[in-house]
Amino acid sequence: MNKVIKKTGVGIVARKSLGYTQLEWTCPRCGTRNPGAEKVCLSCGGPQPEDVKFEQPLEQELISGEEAQQIAARKPDIHCGFCGTRNPAEAETCRQCGADLKEGVQRKAGEVVGAFSTAAVEDVACPACGSPNPAAARYCRTCGSPLTKTPPPAPAAAAPKTRSRSAMLVIAAVLIVAILGCLLVIGGVFNRTSEVVGTVESAGWQTRLVLEALQPVERADWRENLPGGAQVLGCEYRFAFTSDEPQPVATEVCGTPYTVDQGTGFGEVVQDCVYQVYAEYCRYSILDWTEVDTLTLSGSDSNPVFPQPQLSSDQRIGSRQAVYQIVFRADGETYTYETSDESLFRQAQPGSRWILDVNSRGRVVRVQPSR
Ligand SMILES: [Zn+2]
Ligand SMILES: [Zn+2]
Ligand SMILES: [Zn+2]
Repeated sequence: MNKVIKKTGVGIVARKSLGYTQLEWTCPRCGTRNPGAEKVCLSCGGPQPEDVKFEQPLEQELISGEEAQQIAARKPDIHCGFCGTRNPAEAETCRQCGADLKEGVQRKAGEVVGAFSTAAVEDVACPACGSPNPAAARYCRTCGSPLTKTPPPAPAAAAPKTRSRSAMLVIAAVLIVAILGCLLVIGGVFNRTSEVVGTVESAGWQTRLVLEALQPVERADWRENLPGGAQVLGCEYRFAFTSDEPQPVATEVCGTPYTVDQGTGFGEVVQDCVYQVYAEYCRYSILDWTEVDTLTLSGSDSNPVFPQPQLSSDQRIGSRQAVYQIVFRADGETYTYETSDESLFRQAQPGSRWILDVNSRGRVVRVQPSR
């Protein structure tokens, strides 16, 4: 009996913060890549546009510690709805034109920018002169022109696979309907019965009871589910359930780190983790009622009785069962009918007349006294 101790929602994961990384934006006027925190283009002085899209630099760096805490405290800047100037999140009026910033647009945050990696990056060729430059360089060290960036590969955020699941469901539904249809047709053929009048030739009964005794039995379960009186034979740690929160005995399983846009020019580097929790699973011994014998009696009269064994103090009677057999004679044929209905059996006096429902395979499916 594997029992799940606790289940948590499937698909929920813990998002773990690893730190922050500075993003960059490309100037729409001159194509220069600028650090995310810069408010104006380092090349042409143009403003960071309202619909700025922050991207990951080719060479990524993780910021942690106190500096990361300061970055985390920042809120996305607000662009003035009137003049477009970027203002700190706390400002109420534009520092450039004095307009009310309630009308302003707060920069978007929360989008996944892409997978985070600090792996070494190859040199980038200058689009103007072709000479190689370090990935972090913003200007060509040969000709001085801005090094525009080719778009990075698509983010690593995996799309869930839901392909053709609905198609499978439709096929399954069609199959079930078809099978049910066949069963109905077959059932219709075999359920057809005909009535026959017969007389009881003989009747018999068989009774059976199970004798149980208290005996040690071996079982296994999670330690917290062990019943009172269990004698533990041995335990091992086993995977019990998946949790979205850290647990005392658990293996952390984390996905690829990725960067989430904070709207401040920085991105938070996070990782989605789940915790595979382990718990003690124990074999134990306990006294329990166990089947030790089966006693039967049979007779061909109309007074069925059960065996009546002498019980010792650690014994008891378990399940009881009686089966009655009535043999009919009808149109020169012999039909045997089995039932657990004692009152029906007691009416089956030899020579009495009964109506039998016989199916296409010659089996008696129902009997009733003929009056
Ligand atoms: Zn520029
Ligand atoms: Zn303004
Ligand atoms: Zn160049």
